[in-house]
Amino acid sequence: FQERVENTNTHDEISELSQIFNKMMSEIEMSFRQQQQFVEDASHELRTPIQVLEGHLALLNRWGKKDPSILEESLQVSLKELDRVKRLVDELLVLSRADREMTNYENSRVNIKSSADKIIRDFTFLHKGYVFQLKNEIEQNADAFILKRHLEQVLVILLDNAVKYSEPYTSIEVWLSEHAEHLVLEVRDEGIGIPEEDLKKVFDRFYRVDKARSREKGGYGLGLAIASKLIHNYGGTIQAIKNKPAGTIIRVSLKKANGNDEGV
Ligand code: ADP
Repeated sequence: FQERVENTNTHDEISELSQIFNKMMSEIEMSFRQQQQFVEDASHELRTPIQVLEGHLALLNRWGKKDPSILEESLQVSLKELDRVKRLVDELLVLSRADREMTNYENSRVNIKSSADKIIRDFTFLHKGYVFQLKNEIEQNADAFILKRHLEQVLVILLDNAVKYSEPYTSIEVWLSEHAEHLVLEVRDEGIGIPEEDLKKVFDRFYRVDKARSREKGGYGLGLAIASKLIHNYGGTIQAIKNKPAGTIIRVSLKKANGNDEGV
């Protein structure tokens, strides 16, 4: 009888271990598949500007030496495409760094009001047609748990999108509010908005609601994926919500910072 009980225990343990093992293997497989998909998407995105460059260099080589109009046009297009490739490589590097750097942030903290103030000032200077406003509902000077450069990177991505997907002379607002354990930052615009069925998908890598429109604006569908990765690294959350009557709200929730160390 004793032996049977022991055997049963061993049997249970083995079955439990095998379940854990199977679960781990399917997670590894899934992550591998996601990596594969990512490399495929990145190569696909790189291929388009490389093909355009190839075509224009061939044109230059054949006709450009004699025809100044071809020379001028091909050079301009090539420089523009090169700039796009450079931006894609930069974004891929940021994403890969955010994937890797997951620890050592224990003492990160930032005053979100000063960062929001600074970035809004930069945007007001750069995008003269838009009305940027800060709506601060945080009474105390509460700090958020995130590195300053990461918060500012996220803010730039969100404000860049607000500009890209709305018309000049509309208002773009940054709202800050305080809750028991969290600080919430929202970027609200009155632009074209995101369809209901895409509100969750826009955080996926390379996802764009309208590829043609997004490409024309220079986007690869990586901005929100980078923002989401950075925010999740600090245990925060990010979501897209419909604004009323039109437009988008991107809501970021960050933990309040503890301790006294300054972030960088
Ligand atoms: P992109 O570089 O293409 O803008 P993002 O990852 O930043 O990539 O955004 C993904 C997609 O989500 C965009 O292509 C766009 O379709 C949509 N999107 C993001 N922000 C907004 C916004 N504020 N208003 C409308 N659509 C948006």
